[in-house]
Amino acid sequence: MTLDTEISYLKGVGPQRAALLGKELSIYTYADLLMLFPFRYVDRSSITRVDQIDNDTSFAVFKGIVRNMHTVKTSLRSERLTVDLYDGSGSIELVWFQGVKWIREKLKPNVEYLVMGTPSQYNGMWQITHPEIEPYSYSDDHHNYTPVYSTTEKLKAAGLNTKAISRLVDTLLKQIGDTIPETLPQYVIARHGLMPRNQSLHNIHFPTSPQALSQAIERQKFDELFFLQLNYQYRRTARNLHSSGLVFQTVGDNFNRFFAEKIPFTLTDAQKRVIKEIRADMRTGRQMNRLLQGDVGSGKTLVALMTMLIALDNGCQSCLMAPTEILATQHYNTFTKMLDGLGINVALLTGSLRPVEKRTIKRNLAEGHIDILIGTHALIEDSVTFNQLGLVVIDEQHRFGVQQRAKLWAKNSIAPHILVMTATPIPRTLAMTLYGDLECSVIDELPPGRQPIKTMHATDAKRLLVFDFMRKQIAAGRQVYVVYPLINESESLDLKDLMDGYESISRSFPQPKYQLSIVHGKMPAEAKSYEMERFKRGETNIMVSTTVIEVGVDVPNATVMVIENAERFGLSQLHQLRGRVGRGGGQSYCILMTKDRLAKNAAERISTMCATTDGFRIAEADLRLRGPGDIQGLQQSGILNLKVADIVDDEPLVATTRQSVTAILEADPELRSPDNALLLKYIRQQAAKPSWEKIS
Ligand code: ADP
Ligand code: MG
Repeated sequence: MTLDTEISYLKGVGPQRAALLGKELSIYTYADLLMLFPFRYVDRSSITRVDQIDNDTSFAVFKGIVRNMHTVKTSLRSERLTVDLYDGSGSIELVWFQGVKWIREKLKPNVEYLVMGTPSQYNGMWQITHPEIEPYSYSDDHHNYTPVYSTTEKLKAAGLNTKAISRLVDTLLKQIGDTIPETLPQYVIARHGLMPRNQSLHNIHFPTSPQALSQAIERQKFDELFFLQLNYQYRRTARNLHSSGLVFQTVGDNFNRFFAEKIPFTLTDAQKRVIKEIRADMRTGRQMNRLLQGDVGSGKTLVALMTMLIALDNGCQSCLMAPTEILATQHYNTFTKMLDGLGINVALLTGSLRPVEKRTIKRNLAEGHIDILIGTHALIEDSVTFNQLGLVVIDEQHRFGVQQRAKLWAKNSIAPHILVMTATPIPRTLAMTLYGDLECSVIDELPPGRQPIKTMHATDAKRLLVFDFMRKQIAAGRQVYVVYPLINESESLDLKDLMDGYESISRSFPQPKYQLSIVHGKMPAEAKSYEMERFKRGETNIMVSTTVIEVGVDVPNATVMVIENAERFGLSQLHQLRGRVGRGGGQSYCILMTKDRLAKNAAERISTMCATTDGFRIAEADLRLRGPGDIQGLQQSGILNLKVADIVDDEPLVATTRQSVTAILEADPELRSPDNALLLKYIRQQAAKPSWEKIS
């Protein structure tokens, strides 16, 4: 028997239940069932009395008899079943909306039941919706640590409640005994003092003691984090060993003249260091895959530009891909201005160009007349071909899907170097796991003379004061952003918010004394950039907009950022928005407007913003408050599939496993040693799955 055996062969399963297990819990094989870990453990001998329930009671076990069964039809097709569980001290209501028929038939009077669930208060009455319920038996008095599995109403209706699942697991474990294969080399197990996998999987389902349980969980977490990183790091190592990249040997005229004649300021030390790292990386003969992290305003664009000049010095074209048309246009303007007089051809390719313009650009590009191409995702269209593409810079990486990047990569026979820039600081733990196969450069320093932005929280009641403040800043020659949230699902509603706000601001800031711009996603691209340009040139005082200005827009004279309904934004978005001010024009302010009463989480976001401007600290808080699931860019990563490990809580283990993997690959990059046979086997299995390894 192997763990690959189909689940239908397990005693107690059969074809029908097998189909259901597959559909509901993705359990197809013995191994899948073995890896369905309990989501909690209950001590069934520790019973809570109904009269002990209070607001602090979480998941608990009750014991009693059922009475007063009621069924209420709630609509044509659905009904609600309620029943009282009485335990001598009082009763609690149990409620079902699904599987009603089955439960009703199962429940018998004068039988003692064990009920598990989390009580909540409804109409002054304690109740549990969809509790786990099963007849009590004396053996329950001794069982400690009974596993509780997540199951579904459909499974329950087929008799597969948590108890039944645990019986299946028990059957399986008895059948396979001690033959569960090991996944880690012995020396790794010994070095880290891990519980063997066999023992760990037995204990994770049926713990023999609390200590054994925690060791079992630790082992599973180790596996998860270890193999995630092995996968990434092995790929990077393999790429470095085998694949060739363009060799950018020289730093020539373009770079040197720009450096000597064009840079209007001295580079920060961080910028210099990062450029050095990039230069070194691009002449190794391997493809560069580098992530450039730097807070908003840290000067990433300049680094990108200089990197592109190195490409040009080595006879290669390069392109810069931006997430929005506004940004692409802005980069284009910056580049043409900064490169003025150097005889370098820069072109802008966006979706809204006329077909003839597009055709001309594409022809010039293919013939090699364009040195630097800037654009939006129009760049990855199949019809765009380069003469000799040597470098791809991707701005604000999280907006581009992996597939899109893969498409870009395919535009040259030798993989172009890749530089991914992001202003969303990635917490260390995440960077370690997620970008195990990416080199990382960090600009951790802002250009000199920047005063930290002052951030304040104001409730709607203080609006007039905020308006006064805006007037003063405008009188001092400054410009102001007012930003409204725009969240997709309720777009028209949000747009109304924006329009109402715009009207109220127009009334308080009347023409001709004040000039207003407005930008939102529903406007045609031309109108958008027209408004942006007016604001940039200082012709308007206030820019009212949605989050389309979120990323990268650069207007140094703007010193006030007012964020409306700030409670509706996530932390990283607030941080991005705040980064639009404080870009060189003197003391800047960010005002977070919210309603009076805030939910706990929202209040914490607002106070974090007021307390710090450090992007990394904000990213850590974001991760803590939201969990990794919501952080942009993580969808494609394996992080979301982590079953037991937690990227925040298990930071030390992330570091340990990473070091372990690094050491193993340093000693044996191709995993040829017999000691590492298990690891190589894992990698081979992974290789059978689709991957985008060359693009990171
Ligand atoms: P990022 O893309 O990292 O958010 P930018 O590249 O847009 O930041 O730079 C922000 C502003 O700082 C720009 O106006 C840029 O010209 C300016 N800047 C960049 N590097 C320096 C420097 N070393 N000294 C002074 N100003 C700089
Ligand atoms: Mg930028």
